[in-house]
Amino acid sequence: MTKFALVFAFLTSICSWAQDGSAAIKHAAPVLAEDLTIPDDGIRVSVLGYHDLAENLPETAMRIHTSKFRKQMETIRQLGIKVITHAEFTAWKKGELQIPNKAMMITFDDGWKSVYTDAYPVLKELGFPFTIFLYKNYVDGGGKALTTPMIQEMAANGCTIGSHSVDHPYPLTVKSFRKKGTEIYDAYLRKEIGESKQFLESKFSCKVTSYAYPGGFFTEEMFKLGVEFGYSEMFTVVPGKIKRTLPNEMLPRYIVLGNYDKVFEMAINFRESTNGPDLAAGSTPGSIQTTPFPVTPEAGAIINTRLPEISADLSTIENLNPATLSMKVAGFGEVPATFSEETKKFSWLVNRRLRQSSCQVAVTWKDATGKAIETPLRWSFQIDRESAYFPDGE
Ligand SMILES: [Zn+2]
Repeated sequence: MTKFALVFAFLTSICSWAQDGSAAIKHAAPVLAEDLTIPDDGIRVSVLGYHDLAENLPETAMRIHTSKFRKQMETIRQLGIKVITHAEFTAWKKGELQIPNKAMMITFDDGWKSVYTDAYPVLKELGFPFTIFLYKNYVDGGGKALTTPMIQEMAANGCTIGSHSVDHPYPLTVKSFRKKGTEIYDAYLRKEIGESKQFLESKFSCKVTSYAYPGGFFTEEMFKLGVEFGYSEMFTVVPGKIKRTLPNEMLPRYIVLGNYDKVFEMAINFRESTNGPDLAAGSTPGSIQTTPFPVTPEAGAIINTRLPEISADLSTIENLNPATLSMKVAGFGEVPATFSEETKKFSWLVNRRLRQSSCQVAVTWKDATGKAIETPLRWSFQIDRESAYFPDGE
């Protein structure tokens, strides 16, 4: 199985995405439109998401060795990647600030004590700003939780505070409230999204303007509330780089797993942001992509089904020989796509669930004289985490 499937398997176990009869409330996860009022500046930002650290405990998806964390931070410095503050990120996203070509933001979810004892010294030493997404009920939660003085000290030294809800509900809980009707669900979300913000703001005398969905799980109702409560960014756990035009309610983030180094490697790879848009087609999720022909799912889109129809509208090609058309889909190889003489669409309905978070497609053909196109039509799209996590028996 693929590496991505492996990653998802880890995250799935952590997030308790059990078989819960989710199909009953399977809803159309919204695909928010890109904000094209602020032009894309070609810059891509990686946001890293960590959880717990320890040197002398086994690494897990959610716990990384302190020495490995240090190594990763040093790698960022060596590569000349600029670690930006949350405020800089917000300003850049709004189109008010220019940032370097390779930029990164570092975040920690939940509020583990080890962020203070293990990560903070490293970050302080390297001068890296960071953000902690705290959930109300775990602040001063005892045991392995961060305490108020620890948070205050970090906040005074380059740490931004973001919200991670009141109670860190798992998707199962959120879904059960969603089933209870609009009013109850709305009140529930207002508490998780709104009360957590008020709590953190009054406790730490700061403005809280970002939210990380617990377990990365979101529903469309959360988007409106996020705006209403004044969040300028809401982060998921879908890996990918952030470009300026991405909707602020669904920002990707690389959750760095302690037992799977590939995620960090993906996050620090900025190849596509320096190569320009043309070479970016079909590369990394979240990167800018342009296709010379209309395609579905659109290049760079985040979709909510694992069984989409993949198509390319080739009606503008004049001397296409349909018999030579070929579509290749990552994980499937060449697929039996069909060409419609009427619509000039070359399409294939995915017949086995896409298991990866990102899907790459390549279409090639020859013209009437038998000459193959020089550059295959390539693009990629992302599969929304929620759909991607549903077990096979959904
Ligand atoms: Zn969390």
